[in-house]
Amino acid sequence: MVDVLVIGGGLAGWRAAEAAADAGATVGLVARGAGNSPDIHALNVPVGPGDSVERFAADTLASGRGACDPALVGTLARESVALAGEFPWDRNPDGSLAMLQPLGCSVPRCVSIGHHIGAWALANIRRTLAGRVEATRDRVVALSFGDGAFSAKLQDSGATVRARAVVLATGGWCGKYAFSDNPPDLQGDGIEMARALGAALRDMDAIQYEPTVALAPSAVRGIPVITTMLFEGATFRNRDGAEFLQDIHANKDSISRAIFAEIEAGRGVPAGQGGDGGDAPQSGVWFDATGVPAEVLRTRYADTVNRYGAAGVDITREPMLVAPAPHTSLGGVAVDSRCRVLRPDGTPIQGLFAAGEVTGGVHGLNRIGGNAGTEVLVFGRIAGREAAAYVA
Ligand SMILES: Cc1cc2nc3c(=O)[nH]c(=O)nc-3n(C[C@H](O)[C@H](O)[C@H](O)COP(=O)(O)OP(=O)(O)OC[C@H]3O[C@@H](n4cnc5c(N)ncnc54)[C@H](O)[C@@H]3O)c2cc1C
Repeated sequence: MVDVLVIGGGLAGWRAAEAAADAGATVGLVARGAGNSPDIHALNVPVGPGDSVERFAADTLASGRGACDPALVGTLARESVALAGEFPWDRNPDGSLAMLQPLGCSVPRCVSIGHHIGAWALANIRRTLAGRVEATRDRVVALSFGDGAFSAKLQDSGATVRARAVVLATGGWCGKYAFSDNPPDLQGDGIEMARALGAALRDMDAIQYEPTVALAPSAVRGIPVITTMLFEGATFRNRDGAEFLQDIHANKDSISRAIFAEIEAGRGVPAGQGGDGGDAPQSGVWFDATGVPAEVLRTRYADTVNRYGAAGVDITREPMLVAPAPHTSLGGVAVDSRCRVLRPDGTPIQGLFAAGEVTGGVHGLNRIGGNAGTEVLVFGRIAGREAAAYVA
């Protein structure tokens, strides 16, 4: 029996494990795979020029199209400020934080560590926790409660792990789609576990499409191209080479819709790869970064330049063929600001907590780029602390 069992080994899960262990709880963590977190490039911290907690919250609420939980957004915005001092973020030559402006942010707000904050933070937490958390690679196939504890049934070993409290951090369900930038371990399992224990779900029809997921060549297919390039001179072009979306302040949802509309109107660019992609789209549009100074591409977007370069495409001179793909589950398990999982009547299910993409309510119907990374760090920590406090 452990005090706290964390299900999920992304950043929400490891952050929760760290917080629970730091609070003195015995912690077990079961994860099926790596999830989306290693791919987090950057995340939002509202400490740049002209920015504030209030502005961050207002941008998030506006992007969510009226469907965010204002209490969760308030917690996200307030708690995010502390992240500015917690990590060795990339800095400009003058010492200020190097910030990108993601879609949906009214000011530059996105910080990173070499464009790989997800992988960096995961490695850092694992190193800090070495020996203090019992981690198991397996899939939880059922979660039940009885005799004062939760029981998690594991698929591969057939074992059952007992715990006084559980943190669900199983991510979303976009791994179900054939053309997605998510790995297949993300099937919405935690949402089903929570529902079986009586949890309320919210916004289950809400998925964020990443507008710019590489469609071809096949070596880069399914990998997203970062949309902050739009603020540096990148544009969208249809099969005739005409620019069709010039509003760089548009959100991810409106950009994806504009791309789909262009394709449906017959102005999409054929993927030219036949039917090899299951239900992957057969056409996309050009994402043309040739208007971004080559030096900016080579320094700020070196990963993309190199990845395409290895696939034979020089993005400083040629456009990228992209299409929107399911990227983030926006709906999920209903929680309060303490990450307690809620029943349909709003009361918490004792001992059950959730954080990260498995939950709904933070992003409403449309997520600001960079807000998921902030979410998992902020709410992962809260969930771990709360679970440990519940057990204590
Ligand atoms: C390519 C890509 C790039 C992204 N870049 C950014 C970015 O730059 N900034 C940003 O803010 N957001 C970004 N996002 C979104 C962000 O990555 C996710 O929202 C975030 O990582 C979710 O973290 P999580 O810990 O909740 O879930 P995940 O990191 O997805 O982890 C879920 C974990 O649960 C495990 N799991 C699932 N089911 C089970 C089960 N039944 N039993 C055991 N374990 C299970 C999984 O194997 C995994 O370990 C990106 C997403 C993608 C796909």
